[in-house]
Amino acid sequence: MSALLCQSLFRIYTSLLFAIAAGTCLPVYAEQKLSVDEQLTLLSATLNNSPEKSVEMLTQLQALKPIFSEKQRERYFLLNASSLGFRGKQAERIALVKSFIGQVSDPDSRIRFLYELSEAYTVQGDYENALKANYESVLLVPKSVNINTKISALQGAINISTSLLAYDEAMAYADQMYSIWEQGGGLFAKCYGLANRIEISNLRRDNQLAVPLVQDAMLACDAGKRPIITLIVKALAAIDMINNGQVDKGINVGLLLLGEFSKASQTSDYVTQLEEAIARGYIKKGNLALAEQYAMRAYQRATSENAVQLREKASKTLAVIKRAQGQLNSSLDYLDINLMLKDKILGEQLNKNLAYQRVKFDIQDKANQLTLLEQKNKILTVEKVLQKGKNQNLLLWITLGMVLFAILAAWLLRTMQQKSTFRNSSQVDGLTQVSNRAHFIVCATKIFQTTNDKVTLVIFDMDFFKNINDTFGHAAGDWVLKTVCQTVKAQLSKTEIFGRLGGEEFAICLPASTGQDALAIAESYRVAIAAIDTSPSGFSFLITASFGIATRDNGELCSFEETLAAADKALYCSKNGGRNRVSVYQ
Ligand code: GH3
Ligand code: MG
Ligand code: MG
Repeated sequence: MSALLCQSLFRIYTSLLFAIAAGTCLPVYAEQKLSVDEQLTLLSATLNNSPEKSVEMLTQLQALKPIFSEKQRERYFLLNASSLGFRGKQAERIALVKSFIGQVSDPDSRIRFLYELSEAYTVQGDYENALKANYESVLLVPKSVNINTKISALQGAINISTSLLAYDEAMAYADQMYSIWEQGGGLFAKCYGLANRIEISNLRRDNQLAVPLVQDAMLACDAGKRPIITLIVKALAAIDMINNGQVDKGINVGLLLLGEFSKASQTSDYVTQLEEAIARGYIKKGNLALAEQYAMRAYQRATSENAVQLREKASKTLAVIKRAQGQLNSSLDYLDINLMLKDKILGEQLNKNLAYQRVKFDIQDKANQLTLLEQKNKILTVEKVLQKGKNQNLLLWITLGMVLFAILAAWLLRTMQQKSTFRNSSQVDGLTQVSNRAHFIVCATKIFQTTNDKVTLVIFDMDFFKNINDTFGHAAGDWVLKTVCQTVKAQLSKTEIFGRLGGEEFAICLPASTGQDALAIAESYRVAIAAIDTSPSGFSFLITASFGIATRDNGELCSFEETLAAADKALYCSKNGGRNRVSVYQ
């Protein structure tokens, strides 16, 4: 069965691809000029059967290159690459694909180009690059929208995996192919999926899995209009019969299938396999002549198509036949060939496996790195979310702190304002807004105590104030008191203290001033008071006040109390002297 493998697989792949091209019968065109698309379609159909003719067509198409659409350009390059492959020019094929693939981003187109690359590398024996191209195309499968392309990519992967004896991997790709049908793809996806499952099972010598699938596969391939694949499935089943004891039935079915293959003019490796199996069947039946005939056909076909594994198998069968016929020399010759081919296959197998391991390691490594990167990204995202949460918390705390601070500050301000209002109200006279008696005494005493300089007290008392009250009312009296205070205040300097001693009697403390200075100052107060216009009160009358001045001289007068009493005496003099005047205590 292993004759299927190695480079021959890509030939099988090719035949599958042609079947994938959905019943490609050559289009019949009239003699007239063909459009670019028609020419490309014709070229595609011609490639498999007459590669040389395709060269001519490619040359004709080349002239039309300037008018190609993007899609046509892609098709042209693909067909050109394919044609080079058919003509055995793999290096040129690789160079051509590489020169163009960089411009191809559409997954479906890319898969087609990667297929060309993978196949060319495989034929060259560069399995490492073939595997790489193939892996890339398999990764593109989920992005591909064309079922044929998906199947091609997966078929390539199956072929490479089976050639590496990596059957589990191959089976996974076959399952993926089958699932295209399950996800609503065409019935032919089911056909290919099942055909591959059967083939891989046979390769694994697991015919218990393969046999039950045959019927299903044939139905799917018939319904999916893939007669060639039906034929391949039948061939695989016939070979399986010969291998597993149903020799007569296997030979009969096999012979019929050979007829069908020839009618379909398909020179597939399955024909070679079938012939070789029929030869072994005839050996079992003792019909050495027929056995030799079929084994020889298989051997010659494998040789002409350079299908090494199939040739190896056929040479072994021929050696057995020759020995049975008593032709020992000829048998030994075939055994020699067989050994040589086995050796070649083993060498190739070794190369492939090494390449497989390297690519696998590479891909695994990349996948690990990717996973690591993804993990790192995840951690970073989580960290960011956490940090964001932390920041939000921090912001919350800051906001809370600020709100608390604002509340505290407002509370403090309010308290301070209350305190100041309270202090004010305890120090200031409500009506006149000058210091009340107690506060005036405290402040004035302080000045008396903190300096040894002269300090002068001026006191004044409104004249006949009772009369004002009595004549114009208490409100007018209040207005007089307020206005007098405003008038005196307007004349005070910053260091002078003004207070209400009680009723309509006031005092001013003038630091560092002599009696003479104070006399002038008091005189100006007196004049100002007498000049007050009372009309705003609603009445017109005269306001006057009598003043008394005393200066602390550190002789007779020392303390505040002594000086105040002296000023009071001076005031008394002013009253007695006729009021509206200033008297200085002497
Ligand atoms: P003199 O020239 O001798 O000082 O005569 P006077 O009328 O001013 O003195 P007196 O002591 O007889 O009267 C003072 C009056 O001042 C008595 C009182 O009703 C009045 N008075 C005291 N405090 C206030 C006040 O706050 N508002 C008003 N409207 N009147 C007040
Ligand atoms: Mg008075
Ligand atoms: Mg008085």
